[in-house]
Amino acid sequence: MIRVTAVDQGSLAEELGLQEGTELISVDGRELEDFLDWEFATAEESFLLHVRQPDGEEIEFDIERPLGEPIGVALEPVRIRRCANRCDFCFVDGLPDGLREVLYIRDDDYRLSFRYGNFATLTNLKPRDVRRIKEYRLSPLYVSVHATDPTVRRYLLRNPSAPDIIPQLREFAEAGIEFHTQIVMSPGVNDGTVLRQTLTDLFAFGPAILGCSVVPVGLTEYSKHHLVREPTAEECRGAITLIDERAASARRERGISWAFGADELYLRAGMELPPAAIYDGFDQVENGVGAVRWLQQRIAEHAAGLRGWEGRRVGVVTGMAMTPLMPMVLAPLSSVTGAHFELVPVVNSLFGSSVTTAGLLPGAAVQAALGSRDDLDLALLPGESLNDDGLFIDNMSFDALAGSLPFELRASKDFADALMAPVAA
Ligand code: SF4
Repeated sequence: MIRVTAVDQGSLAEELGLQEGTELISVDGRELEDFLDWEFATAEESFLLHVRQPDGEEIEFDIERPLGEPIGVALEPVRIRRCANRCDFCFVDGLPDGLREVLYIRDDDYRLSFRYGNFATLTNLKPRDVRRIKEYRLSPLYVSVHATDPTVRRYLLRNPSAPDIIPQLREFAEAGIEFHTQIVMSPGVNDGTVLRQTLTDLFAFGPAILGCSVVPVGLTEYSKHHLVREPTAEECRGAITLIDERAASARRERGISWAFGADELYLRAGMELPPAAIYDGFDQVENGVGAVRWLQQRIAEHAAGLRGWEGRRVGVVTGMAMTPLMPMVLAPLSSVTGAHFELVPVVNSLFGSSVTTAGLLPGAAVQAALGSRDDLDLALLPGESLNDDGLFIDNMSFDALAGSLPFELRASKDFADALMAPVAA
């Protein structure tokens, strides 16, 4: 059963009398568990929908509608599938106390992997999940492999019953599923020869594995430092050598790079980022793979629309993690727009300087960094520092912060989204 949380005005759902709180029980006799069942079961032109209204009345609707016409309901959020692992490098262990409860959920959910590109390990799949992945053709999936050697993988995941990943992927690949894969590199465990073997195995698997990224473990002062450490510059350079070797042979054999290093890997290695052309369409940009080149590309693509900024001063708020890389984005942005972009790196005053991601910046720290500025025309906030309700991690709202500043504030994911309209003169 799935509960309706809202009904679109003028929609088929409204016409049927569905409302907030209506329970969607089954379609054509098949019980509904989540949005996947709903979307796949209602993809046909006609179907029998069984619902329970908030007053308890049960109704069956014989629905016929043109293919593609949405029913017009919003559904309750999916109950997130919890992770069965306990990785030493888990980002949840690296979080300080006192954050919103939802941030402490170790999610490992193939449904979110399919829908949002979240990485999943596939270690918590039940037979029913396997059937659904194949039946619904949930592809591509984003899979954390880490190592193809089952013993190393189980050690990394701290999960002695984690299944052997290659046969597992093979079963799905035979049903037409494709994968984006990642290796979180933990020095001394899955770098070096283990990394070489993992890249070799995954590439040899065949074209169902669309690519593989290598991401260095990222820790904070709260992480389990007695069990895991961050890689040195030399270890990162070693990983890049292996990635380059694999990418060179992938280009020869398949005409794609296939193997990538996260931007963070190059930063730690003290090496220049590769050019945009190697990223095969930036499939893992949300994973920090090619993010800087992607931003540069977005700016170049939208250059013609970024008018009216000559001589303006724009502050660009960022967490400390991106601070060393941002000049590579702001320089082309300045030359395209004629504006002066100034980086405003913000140290996380709430959780300490080791928490460097923009997603955990408290509004109060941003306010402290911007509050005394009267020389800016605009400030840009990293979009990921706000949740869907427009709140920072410390519950300050975007509106409250914006209202306290003497210049305009905009949230942005790629600069182009925030700079199409100039600020008022
Ligand atoms: S798979 Fe590992 S890193 Fe991911 S949530 Fe589970 S324990 Fe954390």
